[in-house]
Amino acid sequence: MHTKILLKEAEMPTHWYNVVADMPNPPPPPLGPDGQPAPPEALAAIFPEGLIEQEVSTERWIPIPDEVREILRLWRPSPLFRAHRLEKALGTPAKIYYKNEAVSPVGSHKPNTAVVQAYFNKQVGIKRLVTETGAGQWGCALALAGEFFGLDVRVFMVRVSYEQKPYRRSMMKVWGAEVFASPTDMTESGRKILEKDPDSPGSLGIAISEAVEQAIDSDDTNYALGSVLNHVLLHQTIVGQEAMKQMAMVGDYPDKIIACCGGGSNFGGIAFPFIADKAAGKDVQLIAVEPTSCPTLTKGSYTYDFGDASGLTPMLKMYTLGHDFMPPSIHAGGLRYHGESPLVSQLCHEGIIDAVAIPQIETFQAGILFARTEGLVPAPESTHAIAATIREAKQCTETGESKTLLFNLSGHGHFDMSSYDRYLAGELEDYDYPEEAIKESLAHLPDF
Ligand SMILES: *Cc1c(COP(=O)(O)O)cnc(C)c1O
Repeated sequence: MHTKILLKEAEMPTHWYNVVADMPNPPPPPLGPDGQPAPPEALAAIFPEGLIEQEVSTERWIPIPDEVREILRLWRPSPLFRAHRLEKALGTPAKIYYKNEAVSPVGSHKPNTAVVQAYFNKQVGIKRLVTETGAGQWGCALALAGEFFGLDVRVFMVRVSYEQKPYRRSMMKVWGAEVFASPTDMTESGRKILEKDPDSPGSLGIAISEAVEQAIDSDDTNYALGSVLNHVLLHQTIVGQEAMKQMAMVGDYPDKIIACCGGGSNFGGIAFPFIADKAAGKDVQLIAVEPTSCPTLTKGSYTYDFGDASGLTPMLKMYTLGHDFMPPSIHAGGLRYHGESPLVSQLCHEGIIDAVAIPQIETFQAGILFARTEGLVPAPESTHAIAATIREAKQCTETGESKTLLFNLSGHGHFDMSSYDRYLAGELEDYDYPEEAIKESLAHLPDF
């Protein structure tokens, strides 16, 4: 009876898996401001060539550079766990496995792509990376990766989080990054906002605009994004490939794979490698889980929209709630992005993957049950995957079936304890984002 299923370092995957090779229809291309497909060169002002090649590649396997593998070995391969104690508490005949991505230095899956992005930027002589961060998980991952490759990292951190989450800010500084509370007076976009509202709390959209503006304006500076884009999901497929090997080691194969879904990177990471099997006729269900207060895949429109609030990025075809969608402040569980990865969106649109939305009280209940049985305190984002897994396990109890469930534990919640505090103090409420408000923000979709 295994609890931890471990791979040797030498068994870490040597290639990333590109799901585009096994999709019946690849996602439609990004569009420029004129409504015409944006050529790959259009991205060259902010991304290095190696990453742009990956963004548009249709090759099934893409090699992982040795220098990247050497750094990934600091926390990879990550362990696969069998959740015996959670199964027992639920009294379910289901077998529950989880991949633990909390073992990285920043406590989530995000450095799996941050180190790759830093590597390809270093290769072409870039000196500095700029990015945005909300709660700080992505900012921390890029700060660490920049430090490893000798790149300066500048992070625009949404002002409310900068003030409310001081410890992720401190971590970024420990790893040598500069961190600014956005909006700042360092950029045109920031100054415009501050003129109107000197006390602006900031938003992810504003912080993206500040970072992209600096990357466009400076030759030795590029931009880095922690989710959504094809190359980011590609880098995360190391997670699913490892999980597949680990399950094979104990003679198992998942009936259902479950992950939370914000921009789609930890979901794509664990689920995509199984799509090759699914394309070959294997019966495996892939389930993306989102909050009912930010229901992109379950209630959004599949259409072209901007990636940021102010419309500086190319338009992506994706499920979206509208680029000026604001998640309600009562929502404590992350996964707040208005859009979704174009790859995940296309697969969902074609019914190859499934999506489910879960209210926040159920997600925190699941997080607490997990912490009290398996020990680890999960990130509020990850509790969405746990809650969906528990629903499936309970269904097995009813039907008496013993399904094999695999979920991605995308990170730990050690820096998100204020969200748990709000839950424990009874301050959280469930919130279904109203249809009316979704219609309202969808009315502002770009016209082209
Ligand atoms: C950023 C983050 C997410 C959401 O992003 P995806 O790209 O959807 O994976 C989920 N879990 C954790 C722990 C995160 O840091």
